[in-house]
Amino acid sequence: MNLKGIGEFGLIDQLSDLIKTDHPDLLVGIGDDAAVIRKSENDVWLVTIDTMVENTHFDLNCFSFHQLGQKLIAVNLSDIAAMGGQPQFALISLAVSEHLSLDSMKEMYRGMKDMASRYQTIVVGGDTTATLGPMVLTCSVIGIAKKEKIRTRSQAISGDIICVTGYPGMAAVGINILKQNDSDNKLKYNECINRHLTPEPRVIEARFLIEHGDIHSLIDVSDGISSDLHHICQMSSVGAIIFERDLPIHSCVFNMENRKDRNCLHWVLNGGEDFELLMTMGENNFSDFKHTFEAKFNLPLTKIGEILPAEEGIKIKRNSGKVEQLKPEGYKHFC
Ligand SMILES: [Mg+2]
Repeated sequence: MNLKGIGEFGLIDQLSDLIKTDHPDLLVGIGDDAAVIRKSENDVWLVTIDTMVENTHFDLNCFSFHQLGQKLIAVNLSDIAAMGGQPQFALISLAVSEHLSLDSMKEMYRGMKDMASRYQTIVVGGDTTATLGPMVLTCSVIGIAKKEKIRTRSQAISGDIICVTGYPGMAAVGINILKQNDSDNKLKYNECINRHLTPEPRVIEARFLIEHGDIHSLIDVSDGISSDLHHICQMSSVGAIIFERDLPIHSCVFNMENRKDRNCLHWVLNGGEDFELLMTMGENNFSDFKHTFEAKFNLPLTKIGEILPAEEGIKIKRNSGKVEQLKPEGYKHFC
C-alpha cells in the first residue's frame, strides 16, 4: 500500500505503533498539535514541526519572500498556541535552489524574525541545503507551558459546547481568489487573501481562553472545521453536532456563495489554514465569557455546536431542520 491509499491519519496510526515509547517524560506524543515533554515537576516543553512545500502549500507567484517567512513561523506558533503554550525558540530547515538570490533568502528570514519576535520567539538556528526540486521550508518551534494549562485534542466531554474564534473559511476563499487572478476580485477579497498569505497565530487568545475560560479541548483550524472537529472527536471518543445557523460567516465568505459549485457552508466547514482556534468547553457563563473575549480581542468567539456521546456520531443540523452526517472534507494530505 502506498501513502495515497492510507491517508495522513492512517499513516500517523502506523507510525505511532512503530515509534511507541513508554518514556516517562513524554506526556503527549504523536497525534496532537505538539508533543509535550516534562521539563520539571510543574512545567512542560512543547515541540512542533511543520513543512511547507512549493506548489503544494504555496505558490511563489502569490507570496513575497517576507510573507513566506512569516507564514512558516506562524503555522508553527499556531500549533504551540493550540496546546496552550508560549512559543520560545524556532529552528529552520530550508531546501532551496542554488539560483535563489541572497536578497530573497534574507527577506524570508526577515519575515521569520518579524513574526517570531511578535510572539517573543527567537530563531536559534537551522540548516540550508540545495535542491533541484521544489522549495521545501521546514520549521520547528519549542514552547513552554505550565503542565496544568496544556490542552489537548483528547479532553472533550459529552455536554461541552463547541466554539470557534474568528471567521473560518476566509483563507480558503483567499487562495481561490488568488488562483482566479482577477484584479477586481483581488481587491474585493483582500481580507481573505491576507488571511491566506499572512495568517495570525492565536497565541495570546489561546492563553487567555485557558486562563479565564473552562476550556476542555483545543485544536487550531489547519485542515478545516469538519476535519479538525473529527480529530477532537476521535481523540476524545465523543460525537458532536454542529448547527448551520450558528456558524460565523464573514461577508466575503458569504459573497463566494454563488461561485461555481461551492457554497459558503463548504468554505466555512472545509476551508483550511485559517489558524483559528476550535475548542470544546463547559457552557457555564458562556455569554459573559464571550462578551469579555470579543471586547478584549475584537475577534468573534462563536458557539457552533455541542459535544455528544460517541454513539451519536458527528453530524450537522441544517437550517432546513434536517440532520446530516458531517464528513471530514477539509484538507487531506496524500490524497
Ligand atoms: Mg495544529
